[in-house]
Amino acid sequence: MTSISDRITALRASFDSRKTRPEQWRREQLHRLMTMIMDNESAIDEALHEDLGKSGFESRMTETGTVLSEIDHTLSKLKGWMRPTKVSTPLSNQPGRSKVIHEPLGVVLIVAPWNYPVNLTLMPLIGAIAAGNCAAIKPSEVSVRTSKLLARLIPAYLDTDAFEVFEGGAETSTELLEQRFDHIFFTGSEGIGRIVMTAAAKHLTPVTLELGGKSPCIIAADCDLALAARRVAWGKFLNAGQTCIAPDYVMVDETVAQKFIEEMKNAIESFFGKDPKASPDYPRLINQRHFDRVSGLMDGGTVAIGGETDRETRYIAPTLLTNVTPDAEVMREEIFGPVLPVMTYTALDEAIGFITSRPKPLALYVFSSSSDTQDEVIARTSSGGACINDVVMHLAVPELPFGGVGTSGMGAYHGRASFDTFSHTRAVLTKSEYLDVPLRYPPYSSTKLRWLKRFQ
Ligand code: NAD
Repeated sequence: MTSISDRITALRASFDSRKTRPEQWRREQLHRLMTMIMDNESAIDEALHEDLGKSGFESRMTETGTVLSEIDHTLSKLKGWMRPTKVSTPLSNQPGRSKVIHEPLGVVLIVAPWNYPVNLTLMPLIGAIAAGNCAAIKPSEVSVRTSKLLARLIPAYLDTDAFEVFEGGAETSTELLEQRFDHIFFTGSEGIGRIVMTAAAKHLTPVTLELGGKSPCIIAADCDLALAARRVAWGKFLNAGQTCIAPDYVMVDETVAQKFIEEMKNAIESFFGKDPKASPDYPRLINQRHFDRVSGLMDGGTVAIGGETDRETRYIAPTLLTNVTPDAEVMREEIFGPVLPVMTYTALDEAIGFITSRPKPLALYVFSSSSDTQDEVIARTSSGGACINDVVMHLAVPELPFGGVGTSGMGAYHGRASFDTFSHTRAVLTKSEYLDVPLRYPPYSSTKLRWLKRFQ
């Protein structure tokens, strides 16, 4: 079998052949990716169901449908994105013209996690293709069926000179990271993110790190509580809580805490019935290791809703915890499962203080009908992205860059941001040969200096 290093060398040769540069080639690859999904949607749904118990609806909404929309958006904007951007040229550089051109970076590495294995592998790939790169793609070994399927489908549809799938876990990643890439796009945990960035430093390779963290959700007393509960319950229990931007914990105004919990109960019951285990729409934990980890986190508080588990089928009921202390394990690590701690606050200041005393999260949510409260929360906190009166949905606006800040990540993608992430914005100044103002050339004089000061 060809070594990883030889396979990367082959990708580099393809890039150097310049075949990935024409707009036509990029469009064709994007169309093929679209066809790949449409031809195989039921096989993809099946694999996602086997890995995570996702329903067909959820798979369409958060995986295949999201990818198809991103391809559509990219195809409709690609010409404009590729066009050089003219910028003005100051008098000191006249006669001359200045522009920014968008060059592909070369051979990029995409490392994906298991929770949205189709979305988080293919969304960055769309950006890499649009910007004219070759890509080494490393899906997660944990989402076994879906990753195997992608490893079979990608070479059957895309140009195999330009795209290679590398199956495997940490060993494969480690070997890949020893190679020199022109960009590394990593989605996963903070710990592995550090390993990736350290390995990238050896080659001075730029990285995009899409990491996780604890995304807070503030529920103010003046919001529509039933609506807030419905949206929080949807965003939290989607994919059984295994979503990087799921609300990780709630901070609710203590005057409405009880009512909020009742509304959450109503929302959960209306979505999944009295026994969510029997609902075809409620997914499962990815594996026993994560099941054990998330089940263990329930010890950190009092179960107000849910709490039932079944290790055999990796089922954890939609669960709300109250009486949670900030130093409990459930408030220290990213939950990444269907357990929602609900903490209370007496004044907004207290909630904001709690959030800002912790690492900057990937997402932040606030429910309030007062624009003053909404503005105050946004102005006094920082997070990768944010939603006001909703959760998760900011990810579905293609014009909004998606990414973290601080320990929740660096760089961003989706739409134009993806194209920019996988491009080098190169500055080009074109000077005329007709006029050559002698001011800048030695010998310098006080007269020249006076003129210089007029121009600078
Ligand atoms: P992970 O970090 O364990 O794995 C991610 C990828 O890294 C996998 O492909 C894995 O094979 C690879 N990997 C494993 N060991 C490695 C090593 N030593 N060197 C290099 N690569 C290695 O993450 P996960 O468990 O798959 O995903 C869960 C995490 O991802 C959560 O923290 C979640 O918040 C985060 N996440 C972030 C986003 C986002 O968009 N920001 C999206 C989804 C998940």
